[in-house]
Amino acid sequence: MGRAARTIRRAVVTGGAGFLGSHLCEHLLAHDVEVVCLDNFLTGSPQNVVHLVEHPGFRLVRCDVTDFVHVPGPVDLVLHFASPASPLDYLRMPIETLKVGSLGTLHTLGLAQEKGARYVLASTSEVYGDPLVHPQHEEYWGNVNPVGPRGVYDEAKRFSEAMTTAYRTAKGTDTGIVRIFNTYGPRMRPDDGRAIPAFVGQALSGRPLTVAGDGSQTRSICYVDDTVRGILAMAFSAEAGPVNIGNPDELSMLRLAEWVVELTGSDSGIEFIDLPVDDPKVRRPDTTRAEQLLGWRPEVPSAEGLRRTVAWFAEQREAAAVRAG
Ligand code: NAD
Repeated sequence: MGRAARTIRRAVVTGGAGFLGSHLCEHLLAHDVEVVCLDNFLTGSPQNVVHLVEHPGFRLVRCDVTDFVHVPGPVDLVLHFASPASPLDYLRMPIETLKVGSLGTLHTLGLAQEKGARYVLASTSEVYGDPLVHPQHEEYWGNVNPVGPRGVYDEAKRFSEAMTTAYRTAKGTDTGIVRIFNTYGPRMRPDDGRAIPAFVGQALSGRPLTVAGDGSQTRSICYVDDTVRGILAMAFSAEAGPVNIGNPDELSMLRLAEWVVELTGSDSGIEFIDLPVDDPKVRRPDTTRAEQLLGWRPEVPSAEGLRRTVAWFAEQREAAAVRAG
């Protein structure tokens, strides 16, 4: 028998001071859901939620979810989003990444189990590795090198999916798994090494855009508002997943770089650099399941999402320049 979706009044968001987490906190509060945001600020910052701290329904708690997770009071939803997410971050912090995917997932599942809460795991398209099936649908098991540099992230997420599934089958916890594809938008760190902030930063400062390999590798980019809407549709449902959340709009890295140059009006050139080890050659979500189960599909065209993102980064740079006098 299927489960019924529940009423959500109070949510715990781990990694809530990060890029996606901060948008989730904001949208939950807008849905009249109280939010307890747990973060150790490893790759996120209190600055991302500073506009929420005065909200009576919001609580920010500094906490490393690999140590211990205790939240007093009722909890209806746990969103486990804590984890370094950009290659630069997880290559710099391999042990922390494996710990938050394993111990962090265990502790947060324990919290959901104790509170009788719905649990949603932030998994990733990286579980598909360098895929041999294109586009990637949820039935595909992936092609991951466990001992390659990216293995620390990919395998942490694969383990966390297995652990989440085990809690569902062995303990009856109401769990859901979302496999998130590359998401972009305001509040990404300019220096996090991901392609869009890197390209935008380079274009705005007139430096050459550094494209890996020959730039023919593809990614599918989803604007943050669409991703957050998909995650919340999953959170407010009783589906187990995994469900892909991403935009099937696939483009080559070279095309993306050229687009950023056009949107910023920059006269930056393109510089080709070495391709990282085990870099996926293609990436595109099959979103049929999300459409069928959640009635979700991305709505923001990449041209519009990129325009908003470029505008945000430009504002941040101007504000920083003013502060620096
Ligand atoms: P982010 O680095 O901006 O946010 C992660 C947050 O987790 C940070 O605020 C960080 O301080 C916190 N954190 C890390 N370890 C912690 C710990 N041990 N205890 C408490 N907090 C901890 O990254 P993001 O892009 O917002 O990604 C959020 C989640 O979504 C991650 O789990 C990531 O794997 C997943 N995801 C993101 C994308 C994307 O395109 N952004 C794609 C796929 C999956």
